[in-house]
Amino acid sequence: MDQAETVRTPSSWVVVGLDNGGTCNNATVLDATGQFLVNNLVENPSRVLDGPESAVEALAEAFTNILELTRTPLSLVRAVGLDTPGPASAHGVISSKGATNFNQVSWHGFDIRGALEARLAMPVVYNNDGNAAALYAHHQHFGADAAAHSSVSAIVGTGLGGGVVEAGQVVRGAAGMAGELGHVQIPLHGVLEDGQPVPRCNCGFSGDVESIASLTGIKNNLLPYWLTRFPDHPLASEPIATAAKALRGYGEKEDPLALAVFGQQAKAIGKLFTIAANFTDPSAYFLGGGVVEAAPHFRQWFLNTVRENTDLRDEQKAVATFALVPDRDMAGARGAAVAALASVTPL
Ligand SMILES: [Zn+2]
Repeated sequence: MDQAETVRTPSSWVVVGLDNGGTCNNATVLDATGQFLVNNLVENPSRVLDGPESAVEALAEAFTNILELTRTPLSLVRAVGLDTPGPASAHGVISSKGATNFNQVSWHGFDIRGALEARLAMPVVYNNDGNAAALYAHHQHFGADAAAHSSVSAIVGTGLGGGVVEAGQVVRGAAGMAGELGHVQIPLHGVLEDGQPVPRCNCGFSGDVESIASLTGIKNNLLPYWLTRFPDHPLASEPIATAAKALRGYGEKEDPLALAVFGQQAKAIGKLFTIAANFTDPSAYFLGGGVVEAAPHFRQWFLNTVRENTDLRDEQKAVATFALVPDRDMAGARGAAVAALASVTPL
């Protein structure tokens, strides 16, 4: 990385965004005028598998590193935004049952936001990673008009994450579980083929969005079914997890099996967005995740298929936008920073 080209000098005060992942933390700095001081990924090991104490220390290192990299004095930092994978409460208490990235017993019910706030002696604002990415997508798209708009974001990864933004702010819900879009059950008519088994999700639901529109959904549900329809496909001889990951490459080459799978994913997201249209009637529908990194013709086809399967009324069609979530790898840290900035200067 050429630091001279990618780092700007802060204008006045700043906030820091820290995105905590299973292997890495990603950090950024956002100044009071809304400019990011870092244009690329700045990562350090997250050490979440070593338990909360190591992980909080790793976050503190990420904080110190990003200030050094941007030559930002500590005294200019007003707040820190933190995001992690869920499930966690609205204020950053990891689920009492643990979570995929937080499986040690010492993580169960751990207040990661409070621990980082104590460690840094600095206000820390928490969001789960899906909500942080949704917030970033919203603010990136609407800019100065963010507070005047609402949006829904679906982010396709290992699971189906995302969030709901209303008047520029994340909808958190009473228990912090608003915006769990992956576990919204959708009508399957028009999505599944005749005779196709109803997809099941790890959460215990059948036929929710994540059971179809996620890498896990491809591996557990869609690909096993579609390989019975294309028994001579080259992926039939691969282990299912390997085949699931390879599928996007086939989609980019317009392979019929891959297009069938991704077409079902896009239809499922369209059904989700149709529910959103009748529930909060957002200004924008954002789509993110691995598909954003796919070849342009493929991701445009995917977005178009989502749009074609979202039933909007004419009045809604006239005002609604469909767009891809930008800067996928940085969206979490940047969204966490946007939330921290809003905590200092409310919209
Ligand atoms: Zn589910």
